Amino acid sequence: MNVTLVGKGAPAPDLPAAILAHVRRTQQPVILDDARGKTPFAADRYLRLARARSILCLPLVKQGELIGILYLENSLTSHVFTPGRIEVLKMLSSQTAISLENARLYADLISENRERGKAEEALREAQAELSRVARLTTIGELAASIAHEINQPLAAVDALSGAGQNYLKRDPPDLEEIRKVLTKITRDVRRAGDVIQSLRAMVTKSDPLRAWFDVNDVVSEVLALAQLEVQKHGVTVFTDLPAGVPTIYGDRVQLMQVVLNLIMNGAEAMSAAEGPREMTITSRSSPDGKVHISVADTGVGVDAAAAARVFDSFFTTKATGMGMGLSICRSIIRAHRGRIWLEPNTPRGAVFQFMLPVGDDRASPQSGLVS
Ligand code: ADP
Repeated sequence: MNVTLVGKGAPAPDLPAAILAHVRRTQQPVILDDARGKTPFAADRYLRLARARSILCLPLVKQGELIGILYLENSLTSHVFTPGRIEVLKMLSSQTAISLENARLYADLISENRERGKAEEALREAQAELSRVARLTTIGELAASIAHEINQPLAAVDALSGAGQNYLKRDPPDLEEIRKVLTKITRDVRRAGDVIQSLRAMVTKSDPLRAWFDVNDVVSEVLALAQLEVQKHGVTVFTDLPAGVPTIYGDRVQLMQVVLNLIMNGAEAMSAAEGPREMTITSRSSPDGKVHISVADTGVGVDAAAAARVFDSFFTTKATGMGMGLSICRSIIRAHRGRIWLEPNTPRGAVFQFMLPVGDDRASPQSGLVS
């Protein structure tokens, strides 16, 4: 017995084309007790050449739609397909139709999923690029402040080395003073080095990288970059960053970006405000094992209508604003399974806060599983 399953749109393989066409058109089975005898399909090339005898050709129909065709042929014996066998085959064929259709749907689903995966990947890349461009823009705005932040310790080093020379010229050289000067030089050189290092991290194009890091360090580093800019707005910054806040597993540079955005927004909101301009940055660990960071300002505040939209893309109240800063902050925090929100400050201003889960339960800094 030769059994062939012909797919819906599949070109018929080497089979009697006339029979297949008939079944396709009528959606009715064709049964030939003896294909060598007189049949309506006697002119078919295949039937003339091949030695088929019994033929059964069944349409596979699901909900009125032809899904495929089942073709059975016996080239030795005539009258193989008795009514009983045909009944069984018809039943089987309806099952086959369902399975075929399911397989097709499944294949469609898989290819749809693959397409969606590709689109999501492209979206992720676009988002990462956008966030990098936003980071570069902010850093560009900070250029003068950062240059100053690097220049200050260098100027100190210059003065200190002059003083060192003088201590050397003494007779005998004042070694104790020279030692103190060298210690200060080391400290200042490190300070400049640290600023350059965090700057480099913020501007280098690199893939998102997750690792354990200390949020307090992140806040301090960002403050070092933004310090002068914030001071330019006449703002005094207070920090409350207690030791012992748990480390976070995530992308350090992205978190720097979030903190930098919040600080810059707060400073801007205060530049037009009356009264004291104070920014308070705090970190806390909550009893449910999360880390909270808040950036509070005494600026113009956010009214209720704007509060509902500040995290939306392109929402801005600034003449030259892009309205992307907070939206990028929110995607970064969400990607870290955290939450970012806004509360009014008292007596005025805004408090932007975010919460992050401490880490991935699969890997802790102690377990050494982190790659
Ligand atoms: P942009 O700074 O380009 O406007 P953001 O997404 O960072 O974009 O901010 C969106 C809007 O949210 C700002 O235009 C401003 O109206 C409001 N906003 C953000 N931070 C503060 C803040 N600290 N105080 C008052 N308003 C704020």
